[in-house]
Amino acid sequence: MPDLSALPSIDQLLQGEKTQEILRTFGRPLTIEAFREVLGDVRQKAIREDQALPNSEEILNRTRELLNNWLSPTLHPVINASGVILHTNLGRAPLSKETRKAISDISEGYSNLEFNLETGKRGKRFIHATRLLSLLTGAEGGFIVNNNAGALLLILSALAHKKKVLVSRTQLVEIGGGFRIPDVMVQSGADLVEIGTTNRIHLYDYENALASGGIALVLVAHHSNFKLIGFHSEPSLEEITSAAHDHDVPVVHDLGSGALLDTADFGLAHEPTVYESLNAGCDLVCFSGDKLLGGPQAGLIIGKESLLKPIRVHPLARALRPDKVTLAGINATLIHYIKDEATSMIPIWRMISRDLASIERAAKNWREYIGAGEVVKGCSTVGGGSLPTEEMPTFLLALSPEKPDAFMKALRAAAPPIIARIEENRVLLDPRTVLPEQEALLLRNLLKVLENKIA
Ligand SMILES: *Cc1c(COP(=O)(O)O)cnc(C)c1O
Repeated sequence: MPDLSALPSIDQLLQGEKTQEILRTFGRPLTIEAFREVLGDVRQKAIREDQALPNSEEILNRTRELLNNWLSPTLHPVINASGVILHTNLGRAPLSKETRKAISDISEGYSNLEFNLETGKRGKRFIHATRLLSLLTGAEGGFIVNNNAGALLLILSALAHKKKVLVSRTQLVEIGGGFRIPDVMVQSGADLVEIGTTNRIHLYDYENALASGGIALVLVAHHSNFKLIGFHSEPSLEEITSAAHDHDVPVVHDLGSGALLDTADFGLAHEPTVYESLNAGCDLVCFSGDKLLGGPQAGLIIGKESLLKPIRVHPLARALRPDKVTLAGINATLIHYIKDEATSMIPIWRMISRDLASIERAAKNWREYIGAGEVVKGCSTVGGGSLPTEEMPTFLLALSPEKPDAFMKALRAAAPPIIARIEENRVLLDPRTVLPEQEALLLRNLLKVLENKIA
């Protein structure tokens, strides 16, 4: 066994000339902690495995590595070459330049988040961004919370606690991440009244349930990432709201994605829009900020003031309130719609509306730059619980490494990590979801991975 007394002490290490730079970078307490860990490890290996002692230089290197490791964030940017535009695991919508600027501006200092500049008194947080929502949709008012699951929980808690809520069995879906619509409803204390069957619900199912009385709310939920095909039917939103209003029962539409543009204008199937829900007479509509809206994570509630009032004062509204950063980001994103520039300014709409020729050009440029693979036709998807089974034609760079899984792993180990997909043993990269400013970095890293002969 090596002579352990030859190891430097922590005190000696701290005095070392080269340690000073480590101390400046990481601070004294953490550096001491790291020395302790490294020396402990060295001792163990010497005793158990008879391993030779490292010199001081090596100890410093290991310490630096450990410190870097400890402090490296677990959350960092990745390049999305998967072709899934709203990839929930990759943080859904990337933000527009203007949205990022608004977020940065507001986070740098103080703001009038809850301060009325005119009166000098306390102001209301909920006014921010909601005026734009009304301007854009014609809704009487709005309220913004942390996310759409929270919006749904809050609406049901404020309007239907211990009361009956009608919901169709065709809409009792799980929307990913183990999030089930019925579970949220139960959490709110609402009493779920399920009607219809898994594949079919008729207007008379609603009418009969409403006629039996005591119903506080009708909830209509978007099927999200689930598609009913074959023998199925649901009454139209207009029919449901009209039946509910005959009994003075409000209708809440959980729209999920909440499109403000018509996806059908971009060669896709039609995704229900916020306008359609309001026009159909829904009293409240809720949707996500970071799905087809293309903004930061948030839950947006719009509709009738009379229903928004109890929502704003409910204790859960406090627990689910958005921060200034979210409000600034949603506001800036909404402005793109108001100025009718969403398709050119909001990244996800730029991706959805990107023309095929430009994607093909990009794929061919990539192929040329890295000198490997081939350009093939394929599909991108929207994701984010919208437009299930709907695919957009795209062009892909297809690589055929010997070990596709190892190659994907090497891509994920790049800085920043590259997320691709595998189909039929080929690694596919879709230019549609790669942000223009990331393209050069993607190619450089791709080349490095290829040169490392992982391919
Ligand atoms: C995505 C989705 C939600 C949850 O929205 P988050 O913003 O992710 O909380 C709720 N309902 C439907 C129908 C959805 O598609």
